[in-house]
Formats: sequence, structure tokens, C-alpha cells
Amino acid sequence: MTIDLRSDTVTKPTKAMLEAMFSAEVGDDVFGEDPTINKLEEKCAALFGMEAGLFCSSGTQTNQVAIKLHTQPGDEVICDANAHIYYYEGGGIAFNAGCSTKLLNGERGKFSAEDVLNAIRADNVHFPRTSLVAVENTHNRGGGSIYDFIELEKIAAVCKKNKLAFHLDGARIFNAIIETNKSAKDFGELFDTISVCLSKGLGAPVGSVLLGSKEHIYKARRIRKVFGGGMRQAGYLAAAGIYAIDNNIARLKDDHARAKNLADILKSFHYVAEVMLPETNITYFRLVDSFPGADFQQKLAENNIKVISLDNQVIRMVTHLDFHDNMLERLEAVLKKLA
Ligand SMILES: *Cc1c(COP(=O)(O)O)cnc(C)c1O
Repeated sequence: MTIDLRSDTVTKPTKAMLEAMFSAEVGDDVFGEDPTINKLEEKCAALFGMEAGLFCSSGTQTNQVAIKLHTQPGDEVICDANAHIYYYEGGGIAFNAGCSTKLLNGERGKFSAEDVLNAIRADNVHFPRTSLVAVENTHNRGGGSIYDFIELEKIAAVCKKNKLAFHLDGARIFNAIIETNKSAKDFGELFDTISVCLSKGLGAPVGSVLLGSKEHIYKARRIRKVFGGGMRQAGYLAAAGIYAIDNNIARLKDDHARAKNLADILKSFHYVAEVMLPETNITYFRLVDSFPGADFQQKLAENNIKVISLDNQVIRMVTHLDFHDNMLERLEAVLKKLA
């Protein structure tokens, strides 16, 4: 039995999900004729109380389409220095949209409305034009941290006042929703566009949806085509997304509970220097210097356990729907042997 905690993207479709995929009704989506994709886009939009949706191949694609949508070449995008759109999307902000970035140093990936206010460029020919603010919730490199909703409301107000677009990288937005008393619609009200991943905690094999106004999504559809992202009978994939939304949201709570258990277990070992308190499904911890991260990973690998390291000594474990209590027990036993 392999235990794979590298990411919540490693899950495989269940039999029920595969059956939903096999029986999907499909058509050519570039002609707007795939009923299952149309259904997924409408379903997601309705869930967040937004007008329209656009099914894309990945979360990188939804984010990059949104950035291109809200900016002109030469503009500046305000985001956190650890944001996925900046850190993990291959320089896409510059490559795809021709924009520069104003990076903020938030706490676990979360900056404040005041930070945004201070980062907006004055109207002066020397400066780039600030046109977009992007936040991430939950925050990947912030250890699955949840944004304070009141702060998001304040940032939204700053954006509105300064005529800036406001985008949410919501790859793991359902992890935040399930852990707080905020609904998808609450988030839908705050943002111009939201990117939602189906292939993270929700367990679908492929896909993300970009949400926004009819006008924004109309333009986004053209950008997706230019980026080579127009798909044909992809309703087979959209069917997995519909199944994931119908069945795999509430259970994210289990992933969060296991991540917390895991953090408690890790804290008890002398070779763990520090554990970042998991707010959702991502547990980060730092090994003491005397236990090299590469050795730790090697020992786990010998026991068929896969993890990822960030900086040599910082290890990441992500819980997901293919990680069960019996695996947590086996992992605990292996970790004990290392002590
Ligand atoms: C995974 C992820 C994405 C999208 O990644 P893809 O691999 O392109 O689907 C975007 N934002 C965050 C925060 C992520 O964790």
C-alpha cells in the first residue's frame, strides 16, 4: 500500500465517478454544444451566485485566462509573493498577459486591505498601471491557510474604490467554505472572477472552472481559445466535475481532521522542530537540522510513503480523499520508528 501525501491532486476517480463519466452526454464544446460542460458551468455559477462559468483544463489556465482578461500589457498585478499565480505558474503573468507584479509579503500568504492600498500605483507616466488584485483562499504555500472574510470584504472595497479587478484563486475554496460559516455565494459577491479547481480536494481527474459575469466569461472564452484551451467532447471530464461537486465537498472535513491529527502526531517527535498549525488539509513541518530532509524522505520512501519537501528541511503533507485512517495509523508507526 502506497501512501501518497505529496498533494491532493494524486487521487484517482472512483468507480461511481467513472460511471458518471462513461454515461455523459457530449458534443463539440467549441460550438457550445456539450450539454455536460454547459451543465457544469451553470451549476458552478449558480453555486457561487455568479452569472456564468468557463470549464478549463487546469487551475493554471483559469487563473491565467482571468489575469489576461483583467489587464493590458504593461499593467501591474498585486498579489502575494507566495501566490500560486506568481510562484507556480511558470512566469505566466509576464508570459501570457505581459504584466509585472507588485508582490506583497502577507502572513501565510494573506495580505491586508491596507497593504493593497499602499501598493496601488499613482497615476503617473513613470509607473505601470495597477489593474488587478489577486488573492488565494485557501493559501497553498501558506499551509492551507484561510483568509479572514472581513479582510476580503475590505480588500474588495479598496478594489471597487480604485477601479481594480478582484480575482480569487479558489483552487481550494471549498476547503475554506467547509471550515467556516461562509457560503460559496458570499465569495461570489466579493469577486469579479473566481477560479475553482475540481482536481484538488474534490477528486476529479481534470479541470477547473472560471466564474464571473456574462460579459467577463464571454471574453474569457475567447482568451481560452487563443491559449489553445478550446476543448471538444470534454463533457466526459465535466461529468467527473459534476460528480465531485455533488459528492465530495462535505467530506473535506475528514481531510482537515486527519491533517490536524497528523500535526499532533508530528509535534511529539524530537526530530520535528516546528509544525505549522494546519487550518485545512495541508500540514507543513520543519525537521531539526541534524535530520537532513533528504534522509527523512528516503526513509519514508523505503516504506512506500511519498511526501514533498519545500526548502530542504521543510516537509509538506497534504491529506485527500484517498488517504484513510488506516494509512494515518501506518504512517504514525513509520514515523515512530524514525524517532
Ligand atoms: C493547484 C493550484 C492551482 C492550479 O494548478 P493546476 O495544476 O494548474 O490545476 C492554482 N492555484 C492554487 C493555489 C493551487 O494550489
